[in-house]
This record gives sequence, structure tokens and C-alpha cells, in this order.
Amino acid sequence: MNRFILLIILLTSLGGQAQNVRRCAYDAWFSQQYQHRRDYAEAILQVMSNRTSAQRGGGGGVVVLPIVFHVVYNTPEQNIPDEVIESQLEVLNEDFRRMNTNASDTRPEFLPVAADCEIEFALANVDPDGNPTSGITHTFTDRTGFSLDFFSATNTLDEVKQSSTGGVDAWDTDHYINVWVCNIEAGFLGQVFGLAYPPAGLDNWPAGSNAPNPALEGVVIHYTTAGRNNPQAGADGFDGNELGRTLVHELGHYLGLRHTWGDALPFFEDGCAVDDGMADTPNTAAGDQFACNLSSNSCETDIPGDLPDMIENYMDYSLDECLNLFTNDQKDHMRYVLFDLRPGLLDGVGIAEARALPQFRVYPNPVEDSFQIVFDRNVAGVVELRDMTGRMACSQSVEDRSVSFDATLLAPGVYFAGLCNSRLAPVRVVIQ
Ligand SMILES: [Zn+2]
Repeated sequence: MNRFILLIILLTSLGGQAQNVRRCAYDAWFSQQYQHRRDYAEAILQVMSNRTSAQRGGGGGVVVLPIVFHVVYNTPEQNIPDEVIESQLEVLNEDFRRMNTNASDTRPEFLPVAADCEIEFALANVDPDGNPTSGITHTFTDRTGFSLDFFSATNTLDEVKQSSTGGVDAWDTDHYINVWVCNIEAGFLGQVFGLAYPPAGLDNWPAGSNAPNPALEGVVIHYTTAGRNNPQAGADGFDGNELGRTLVHELGHYLGLRHTWGDALPFFEDGCAVDDGMADTPNTAAGDQFACNLSSNSCETDIPGDLPDMIENYMDYSLDECLNLFTNDQKDHMRYVLFDLRPGLLDGVGIAEARALPQFRVYPNPVEDSFQIVFDRNVAGVVELRDMTGRMACSQSVEDRSVSFDATLLAPGVYFAGLCNSRLAPVRVVIQ
């Protein structure tokens, strides 16, 4: 087929999607690269028949990955405050540990495959030169923004990753997850919210999907999508992405996951015949497109046990409020990527052992029936829950990183959880 005609078909198809808004740039990116790189076009078609068994593996136990955020701004609004980044980190740690408050929204048919990925993220506290850092950089740029140029053969969003083009250079990408937060300007294909490179060597991605060079590894997100307390959420006119799940989705790509519907090319492939390489995500014809359509079963069959589209998967394009799970296969695949393809993230270069004090979080909070207290490292001691008058309501010993409390016998109200004989500030807990 004439490539120009192909281009028109692809644009017509893409243009038909809701509001020209994309959770991430991949559906545009595949079409763009299909135009510009013949070898990649062939790899895209080749991988379609080879995605029923993505790699599995990785060690057990919770891993903590160092992450650095580079806020690249042109206007004061784009220079989002550190509280927003800290909120973003909370979202990541809740979602990758299945401690998200909306885990209870997962439909019963998907509960058996919903996974605690045992992956956590910590702001780097040591920079590549060995100096203390907050793990957040703020840098002014004289560029109004960055965009994915459909007509360029290269990924022009990568310009935010290089100081020579108005961005900020990465920290050693073997040892840090780099996230650039900037103004992604709407381009010919509409507004995208993020993009991330998977590593090389994955069976479920076309060969050549990885970063062109190591300095470009990492994730770019649009500044309005960071965190769930972002004063700029919706400021660009787009709703539905204000709970910080754009970065959850993009880190899924960074750790090797595909979209649940498998990214079939419009008009070329039957979407139900293209898979994401995960056996426990039902076949799906296309992304949910910010609809949260729970009745959708786009690849319905007569086979008993046929499942609806898993629109609550973080790798779909649903609204943030509808996303609530990764699956067991996705977990195994991400851990394979970590242990086999991105092992430098596990050697602790970016996170010093001796933080001043341990930190802990309460999940969920407010509490209904039970809650967990999770520390950022192993601790040994006693966790107490006291009421507003200071009277102890209950206590439990902790020997590693987490402890669970049953709240069904506690009266509704405000309590404070704390570690005995420590200088840690107690955390407010609301029992409903
Ligand atoms: Zn995506």
C-alpha cells in the first residue's frame, strides 16, 4: 500500500478516538514509527504472533526502587511543588502494593488474579555524585513545552531529557528511575499525558522499542497529571487523570508491560487476535478511552467463563478513578524485567541505608474493617493505636516492615498510630 494512503487511514482512525486524548503516547507512537522505520514496522507485525507467553521470573520479596523527578518548567504553574511529587510517590506505592483504597472496586471475577507487585519506590536521597538530595530537581526552561512530533522520525519528547535541547540530563539510568515532569504540548495527534521506554530484549514488544541510548531511559509525564493534590489538575481542560495514575501506567511500560488490548494497528489487525502477552488479562479489542465501561466485552466468545474487558487494569486507558489493579502475570513480568534487565535499580546506589528515621504509612485511611501500617524499612518494636484522649486502644508488635490491625471492634473516631519509644510523629487514623 502506498505509504501516504496508509498515513491518511491511520490518521482517520486515530482522529476518531475520544477528544484526541491519550493516556500515553504509545498508540500514536506505533503509528508514527510504522511510517518512518521499515525495520520497526516489520518488527511490529512480527511480534503480533508471539505474545502469548511474555517472560516470567524475578526474585521474591519487596523491592524498593530509587526514583528522581525532574520538574522542567517554563511558567510558575508548570513548576509543581514538592508536595505534589510526594503525593505521586504515595500513589505509586499504594498501587504497586495493592494498597489503593479502590482495590475494593475490583470485580469478583478478577480478584483471583489481582496482585501485590511487591514493588515500592523511594525518592533518591543520594545523587550520582554521592551528595544528599531530595530526589526532586526543578529547572527553568525557555521552551514553552515539549511534544511528540508525528512527522519526525525520532521521539521529539526525548528533548526534555537533554540539557542541549532545553531539558535536563538524566541521572545514571542504570541506577535511578528518571521521571521528567513537563508541559507536553498537544501535537498533530492531540494531547498525550506520558511516554516511557521498555527495556530491550522483551518478547512482547517489537524489537527496537527500547530507548535509542541509555541516557534517554525513563518516563515523561504531563505536569497536570502528577500526584492527586495537583493544583493544576484539569487546568489544560482534560479531566479524568487527576489521581496520579498516568505515572503508574507509564512505569508499567518502563517495566515491560503492554496495553491490555495489545496495540493492534488500526485497519491492519483484528484487535481480538492481538494480545499483550499476559495470560490473565482478557483479550480486548481496543483501549477503554476514558470511558470506564464496565459492560464492555469487546472480544466476547461463547466459551464458558468468558471474561469482560479488564478496564480496571492500570495498563488500560480508563479514567484514573476506575483503575485499580495489576495482575499476577503482569507482576511476574515486571519482576523479570527488574531482576534480569534493570538489575542496577536494585543495588541501592540511589538510596542511602541510614535515613534519619523510618517512615510509615497507614492503608487504607479512613479505615473500615482493617488496616495495615507499612514502614519503609525493617523495624522491631511495638505499634500502638491511641484514641483522642491518649488512651491505648490496641497494640501489636512489628518485626519487619508491616503489621495489620483488625478495626472491627474499635469505635468509630479519630486515633493516632505510632511506634513506641521512638521519635516518630504519630499518624492520624480515622476509623469509620
Ligand atoms: Zn500506555
